[in-house]
Amino acid sequence: MAANDDETNEHSRKDSTSYSMFSDDQILVDALISQALEDKIDDSPNRGVDRLEQINIAIAACKEKLREFSLQATPVGTPTDDSGHSIKKLLVDKIVDLGLEKQNLQDAQEDCVEMKKCNGHTFVLQSARGRNPCCEVCMGTIWRLVQYWRRCRACGMRVHEKCAEDVRRVCAAVIGLQSDFHFSNKICAEVGLLHQNYKCAECEHPLSYDSGPSDEPRLCELTGLYYCPSCHWNDEWPIPARLIHNMDPTPYPVCRASKQLLSVTQHKPLIAMLDTNPRMFALHSGLKKVQRFRKDFLIMKCYFISCKNARSLRILQYLRQHQHFVEDAKLYTLDELKEIALGGLCRELEDIHTVFRRHIEDECETCRGNGFYCELCATDAGRNQILFPFTDGISMCKKCYFVFHKACYEKAQSCPRCERREKRERHRSKD
Ligand SMILES: [Zn+2]
Ligand SMILES: [Zn+2]
Ligand SMILES: [Zn+2]
Ligand SMILES: [Zn+2]
Ligand SMILES: [Zn+2]
Ligand SMILES: [Zn+2]
Repeated sequence: MAANDDETNEHSRKDSTSYSMFSDDQILVDALISQALEDKIDDSPNRGVDRLEQINIAIAACKEKLREFSLQATPVGTPTDDSGHSIKKLLVDKIVDLGLEKQNLQDAQEDCVEMKKCNGHTFVLQSARGRNPCCEVCMGTIWRLVQYWRRCRACGMRVHEKCAEDVRRVCAAVIGLQSDFHFSNKICAEVGLLHQNYKCAECEHPLSYDSGPSDEPRLCELTGLYYCPSCHWNDEWPIPARLIHNMDPTPYPVCRASKQLLSVTQHKPLIAMLDTNPRMFALHSGLKKVQRFRKDFLIMKCYFISCKNARSLRILQYLRQHQHFVEDAKLYTLDELKEIALGGLCRELEDIHTVFRRHIEDECETCRGNGFYCELCATDAGRNQILFPFTDGISMCKKCYFVFHKACYEKAQSCPRCERREKRERHRSKD
């Protein structure tokens, strides 16, 4: 009993001493580090020691102390020096912790070298190979082989390393990716140089037709304003309003800021063409066809979602370039409108439409099982034909979404399913 008690006491005593020893040693290690730092700061004339240097000093001090301990350890006759052992462990732990902090700090600093942020731009250091571009800040050539230079990974702006901090234009991505950003659907009328006080609309450099080429006014077709040759490089881009109103895909001259804005937003579904210019769907056969495909895609999506085969085939991936087509049939991107105007997109979508139809109508039992039989048909052949909401020559009941041959539906002038349901409801209300 007593022995047991002793043992317990012995344990608690050991624990408490080792605990107090631990905190004493901790204080010792911390004091050692702060002493080393103080010495260093006194030595350095400008007293400026950053965190990375502090860590290096602390690590050096810990290592030095550790070396002292290992030299001392042997001559001392005592079998185990608890205090020394504990401090050594603390020193090793401290070195590991400091090493980790140093690594994190260095990684962060490397990121800073890789990327430089200014006015929303994320300038990334570029390689020395390739053509020598022009710097958008100083307008000088960027000599890749001898000069560091950066490119904004969002808007593509190119600048000398030394010019990156002087960029005044806000990154087009900051403006274009705002949730309420939309293209103006007004074709910009030129307001004239007088209205702009004969100054560049961006940098306010004086403009005149009479002076040298550096003062030559250049019109931006997106803003309707004039710019100096530094802010307007005669880039050309299709203008959203001209596509919306006239399906005109012609590239027009735009200033640098407009070019960058159009470039970052060209693949964003931003144009609600059905709301803005619904007449165009009747006037432009390509647009009309694309809209029809898009409506079908939304119906086909319902088939694919409930079909295991379609999911394993990842069939909707065919539309990955136009992800919003799977979500709604309303919004268009600038690039899509341009492609439709040029006649390209329609053919591409027609191919996808064929693949989708083939899966549902011919290749997949599950999807085919979700087809419709026309209830209104007079002939057996007609009654046995499987119809889908996207089959040519069908009509769909707007109430119950059931599908019939168009001719049959027009003849009947009503939906037999809805009629049956209404009859049932009348009966029920009578009861
Ligand atoms: Zn940018
Ligand atoms: Zn420059
Ligand atoms: Zn300018
Ligand atoms: Zn299927
Ligand atoms: Zn029929
Ligand atoms: Zn119906």
